[in-house]
Amino acid sequence: MQAEIVTIGTELLLGEIIDTNSAWIAQQLTTIGLNLYYTTTVGDNLARVSDVLRQALQRSDVVITTGGLGPTVDDVTREAVARATDREIALDEDLVEEIACYFARRGYTMTDNNRKQATLPRGATVIHNPVGTAPAFFVEHEGHVLISLPGVPHEMKHLMEAEVLPFLRGRFGLRGIIKSRVLRTCGIGESAIDARIGDLMQLTNPTVGTAAHPGQTDVRITVKADSLAEADALVAPVEAALRERIGEYVFGVDHDVMGDVLAALLAERGLRLAVAETVTTGEIAQWLSRAPRGAEAFAGGTVLPGADALQTSLGVEPELIARYGYPCQEVADAAAEAVRRGHGADLGLAVIGPADPAAPDAPPVFFALALEGRVLHAQSRQGRTGVSGRGWLMHLALDLVRRHVLGLPIE
Ligand code: ATP
Repeated sequence: MQAEIVTIGTELLLGEIIDTNSAWIAQQLTTIGLNLYYTTTVGDNLARVSDVLRQALQRSDVVITTGGLGPTVDDVTREAVARATDREIALDEDLVEEIACYFARRGYTMTDNNRKQATLPRGATVIHNPVGTAPAFFVEHEGHVLISLPGVPHEMKHLMEAEVLPFLRGRFGLRGIIKSRVLRTCGIGESAIDARIGDLMQLTNPTVGTAAHPGQTDVRITVKADSLAEADALVAPVEAALRERIGEYVFGVDHDVMGDVLAALLAERGLRLAVAETVTTGEIAQWLSRAPRGAEAFAGGTVLPGADALQTSLGVEPELIARYGYPCQEVADAAAEAVRRGHGADLGLAVIGPADPAAPDAPPVFFALALEGRVLHAQSRQGRTGVSGRGWLMHLALDLVRRHVLGLPIE
């Protein structure tokens, strides 16, 4: 059984928007055991879209399109599907009513253009779209199925999950599923993980693999099974074995991110954290304040462009900087304590580093976590800049807090 994705939109070809829909749909198709052999992107041109669809229908059992379902003249998908499957286009009165209701609920008037969205290739089955105006649909053509979804990612994802995947399972009798469980780790490199779990990485079902990202490494367990229950039963012992070996480094699972996890951990314990940051340019503060439990856990942050701001913003003694230099651990300790007091927080975290941590001979980045009466330390010499460098530093800094809160050893 093979599937194919066609993403439609000239902006995609021009590189103005990145085709994230294909990647997401590809992952979903894997979970229901459908093989994906082709992904094509085509501009908003009726002849070219219908050619691509005709070819896709010849070689694939399932063709999924996204985009081009809007009300304007350059939204050609409905017409192209009709041409590729030798049908006419017809107005669907029920759909007119549905779209009119959608507009009425939001207090907008429906235009003639929007009526165009209620036209469909004759014989198409509507996939109702409760999260937008672009109605989706599928057509059956010579034993093949062509499914057209809106381009807007959140609408497409909703329809895939709620309608398309269950439909495809039933339509093609797909019983097998592929499920992944991801353990997200921090503070341990990919090779160190490999050294501890190498034997588990030889397993065949589930398989275990690693993927490194800035500052954190994912350990992914992937299983093929006939049902969700069977998949869970196969994953559980492997997850337990992994946790036994690397459990203290696992900060979250699946789509968890460090900022959210830490904010929740602090909030559960009634702790509030303040942050003073130099090289991470305020991103730790952003991460924490955006977290679902950020309002409970984050006491405030100070972004410091350099040594001078330590004195003006946080009142760190200039003599300290003169005596120990900048950056250094003593200054980081003082900044951590100053930001903790300044924001009336339980914990104060400082990330104090050189302007360019990747320069040759650059000093390390110093982390300090001030608690009532003492300060914990860490350092990083990873020597990267930009998004990747900041990703490293943010993870390492927040992992220091996580380890302290959970009572884990701090190296
Ligand atoms: P609507 O009428 O609701 O806009 P549509 O089906 O006509 O839906 P498009 O107009 O093609 O969708 O795309 C709408 C927006 O969705 C685009 O401007 C873009 O932001 C996003 N989008 C479209 N296709 C993709 C894609 N393949 N990957 C990521 N985003 C996409």
